[in-house]
Amino acid sequence: MLLKGMLGPMVFHPKVIDTFLESRPGVYALGHCEDEEFVIQCIGRADEDLRGLLFYFNDEGKYEDFYFDYSDSPVGAFQKECRLFHLNEHDKDRMEALLKHPTPPRGTYCQCPVCVDRSKS
Ligand SMILES: [Zn+2]
Repeated sequence: MLLKGMLGPMVFHPKVIDTFLESRPGVYALGHCEDEEFVIQCIGRADEDLRGLLFYFNDEGKYEDFYFDYSDSPVGAFQKECRLFHLNEHDKDRMEALLKHPTPPRGTYCQCPVCVDRSKS
């Protein structure tokens, strides 16, 4: 699993999230650790408040651990989510959330940096 520069793994629990995360834009990868490897089950982003989003995330106990990273803006979070998506897209069959390409933040028009690069070559 590829999680370039992200922080973790941390236990996916509201108490942990409440204690360690900040209310800023950011990306996350939820999953579990298996033989010292992190298995991503789902990725996503928060345009404004990563802490709030994960704190209220109702996963019904599906995810055990997570990685995260902050961004300076919603567009920055979108671009990080895109990179995370493309880094792991070969694992689509294992991840429900990787079936769909990330969409830009509401009210903005920005493009995925990876798709733009690919269309150039
Ligand atoms: Zn893309």
